[in-house]
Amino acid sequence: MATLNGNYRKLQAGYLFPEIGKRTKEFVTKNPDALIMRLGIGDTSEPLAPSVIAGLHDSVDRLSKAETYSGYCDDGVGTPELREALAARYASYGVNIKVDEVFVGDGAKGDSANIQSLFGESNVVAVQDPAYPVYVDSNVIAGKTGEGSDGQYDGLFYMLCVEENDFFPKTPSEKVDLIYLCSPNNPTGAVATLHQLKAFVDYARENKAVIIFDSAYASYISDPRLPRTIYEVEGAKECAIEINSFSKEAGFTGVRLGWTIVPKNLRCEDAEPGELNNMWSRRQNTFFNGASNVVQPGGLAVLSEQGQAECKKTIDYYMANARRIKNGLEGLGITCFGGVNAPYIWMRTPGGISSWEFFDKLLNETHVVGTPGSGFGPGGEGYFRLSAFGHEKDIARAVESIQDNLKL
Ligand code: PLP
Repeated sequence: MATLNGNYRKLQAGYLFPEIGKRTKEFVTKNPDALIMRLGIGDTSEPLAPSVIAGLHDSVDRLSKAETYSGYCDDGVGTPELREALAARYASYGVNIKVDEVFVGDGAKGDSANIQSLFGESNVVAVQDPAYPVYVDSNVIAGKTGEGSDGQYDGLFYMLCVEENDFFPKTPSEKVDLIYLCSPNNPTGAVATLHQLKAFVDYARENKAVIIFDSAYASYISDPRLPRTIYEVEGAKECAIEINSFSKEAGFTGVRLGWTIVPKNLRCEDAEPGELNNMWSRRQNTFFNGASNVVQPGGLAVLSEQGQAECKKTIDYYMANARRIKNGLEGLGITCFGGVNAPYIWMRTPGGISSWEFFDKLLNETHVVGTPGSGFGPGGEGYFRLSAFGHEKDIARAVESIQDNLKL
């Protein structure tokens, strides 16, 4: 008799974006002539850089001839060229990452969901609140939490991110084992300083905890004082795994390519040196046959000098959108955070209304769709996320509609 994994039943409410889709659809049905402007989902909108397209074309062409054809990758963790190029990127940050510490995968979502499998069920997991929902849901499914109610789960340690702490938490007041940190942060747009990350690295080393650091938006950091990788903190290679992606840096949200760093000397209570690195290699080779051989040369092209210059132009384009949104809202007296070194604007709902009330108000009055902060955890209640991804003219139209129609 087969039985199901009952942990799935613990998952609360549907995923955030289906609910947004449902409410938007209902509005469109009632108002068929309304032009909907979407500043909700954080999906890229601009074409890939020319040099990246060339890299992708080249890899497709190689598959057309027997002499250059390739099938399965030798192992499921990426081509040597791409792993070397990624290690070189870390070297450019002054950080020494070895090629066999780099694991290429098909994006940060899968890796951030799967990485918890390296750690036992009894580990106490700490997450930022609000947070990108995958960290919580993957640990619920894996049985590392108790039951859920009111948007929270028993057994998880929530690190509240609020205005008073600039949306970056203090280290946990009790002993936890796995700590998820995301910087630049989705959804708050906050970026951790070196000092803030050092506090977590110190905590993790003291408590033999492991930090899972999601830096999927690192390429949006323009302030040179802010760390682009947690390994800029001394000692982080002993206690941190880093997950990153080409999705937001190069528009690969549909192409799919990312990487995870599992340092050789990462340790936890009972790991031998190198064991966690070996385990991740084993896991990837068992469950995954590697990122697409069409796509990996595209990643190499992103990391080339020309690719970097071209991708930066697109990032600058999105960040000009972010400034436009932020200035427009602040001009109306709305309090905003983020949007400077991250493509998300985290706004306080006007008049203290709930996140979902503001969602309905914004949609009804301005026809703009955003993302309710409470969808990222109870700590997001009273906030709202607007995304800078989108065509400039659509963003401009949305901001204008908010300025003209939002009743404050
Ligand atoms: N991590 C964060 C914080 C994200 O916001 C996202 C996507 O929005 C991801 C990871 C997923 O990235 P990928 O497209 O590489 O799976």
